Formats: sequence, structure tokens, C-alpha cells
Amino acid sequence: MNLIQKAKGFLFDLDGVFYQSGRALPGAIDALDCLRQKNIPFRFLTNTTTKNRKTLQIKLTEIGLKCFEEEIISAGYVGIDFIRKMGSPSCQFYITENLKQDYSEFEETIDKPEAIVIGDFDDWTFDLLNQAFQQVMNGAEIIALHKGKYYKVDTGLRLDAGGFVKALEYATGQKAHVVGKPNKSFFQCALNDLRLTPEEVVMLGDDLINDVQGAQKFGIPGILVKTGKYHEGMIESSGINPDGLIDSIADFPIILNS
Ligand SMILES: [Mg+2]
Repeated sequence: MNLIQKAKGFLFDLDGVFYQSGRALPGAIDALDCLRQKNIPFRFLTNTTTKNRKTLQIKLTEIGLKCFEEEIISAGYVGIDFIRKMGSPSCQFYITENLKQDYSEFEETIDKPEAIVIGDFDDWTFDLLNQAFQQVMNGAEIIALHKGKYYKVDTGLRLDAGGFVKALEYATGQKAHVVGKPNKSFFQCALNDLRLTPEEVVMLGDDLINDVQGAQKFGIPGILVKTGKYHEGMIESSGINPDGLIDSIADFPIILNS
């Protein structure tokens, strides 16, 4: 595949491409080794917000995916700068305790926060969702670290943060600010880091909307990786045309070396 061979750098989705349910996917470690050997720059561009960037880097390294913290552009990490640029409003966080450690510079309040921040969060109850709803009705902005629909774990598909964001948008009539993919500034953040233009990189991911279409809207070729949440008929029903398809990340070094 020409696109992969001529790219000067890569943007990779993580979950469903390099790992799944806390384990490296077959071929992922070799793909990373291949990039290192060839000195090809890349960034992991991930909407994952379950862990902060440091913890994510440690976890990846533990499962054999050796990388530097700087090589991970996560929605949780970029969200900090996003909130600063909004003038550091007081916030209520609907995110994991681990990620919250990175957000300690912002005032946290349940009583009339200026913004609510939603990321991966497994503790939703009706009462908490209703509290978030009331906070938005009282003037809080919705900051969605991402709006993912679902992702794949070993036991099947799992509901992602987007559904909760959508529920609040629907009930309040307010639109969320989205930090991660497919937000253009999220992709731009990775390109600035790599000092490459959209045409010089390729995005590979298992999410048609966030990875493939998100990249394409920014002029970056988007390749769908047929692992993770990929399923038969997904492309046909989406109206999205990936610039390429690969069966799994295990094919990446083969294509790069061919
Ligand atoms: Mg993914």
C-alpha cells in the first residue's frame, strides 16, 4: 500500500489497534519495533481518558509497547490545555480518579460549576446524570473529552462516553465542546508535535468516524484497521470511504517493508 510506504510519519489509534482489554494485540510490538528501526516518527492519538498520560505510558510499556510519554496525545492530556484556554472555569468532573490527578489546577465544585467535564467514567447512576443535567441547566458548559460511541473489550462491545454526553445535549439543548478525535485541533496538536503536514502523515484506527473520517476531514489519509470494533458491513452502512484497509497492525511492518 503506497500510502503507508510514502508517509513521513504516522498517527495511530491505540485501543482496538495496538491493544485490547489490557493486552497488546498480535503484531503490535513488532509494528512498534519496525517504526523504531526505521526511525519513523509517530504519535499515538487516543481518545482514551481512563488513565492519565503518565499511567498510560507505564501500562503500555508493561505490555510490551515501549513508548515515551511525549508520543501519546490523549484526550485526557489535551483536555487540560483546552480548559486553560477556556479561562480555567470551575468544573465538576465526571472522569476517573486517576485522570483527575492531572486536573488539580482547576477548582472543583458541585455547586454551580462553570463547566462539567466528561470522559471515560464507569460510575454513572441516574442521580449523577441528573446532577450533571442540572449543572448544565444552571449554566455549566459541557466539555466532552470525547464522544466515542462504543469500543471493543474481550467480552464484547462496551458503551463509551458519547452516549452520556448525547443524553445531556439532548435534554439541555446545549452542545458539548469536544476535545479528542475527531476535533481538528486534536489532530493539529499531533502534527505540530511531529512538524509534519496533513498530507505527510497517515492515520490508522478502528473507528470509522473518529479516526478515519476525523483524519480525512483534516486532509490526512485515514486507514481503517479491521480489528477492535471493526465488524462486517460497518463501512457500507457508514457512507465513509477509508483511504485504505488493513486486516490488523500485524500487516503494517509487512507493507512498510514491501
Ligand atoms: Mg480504537
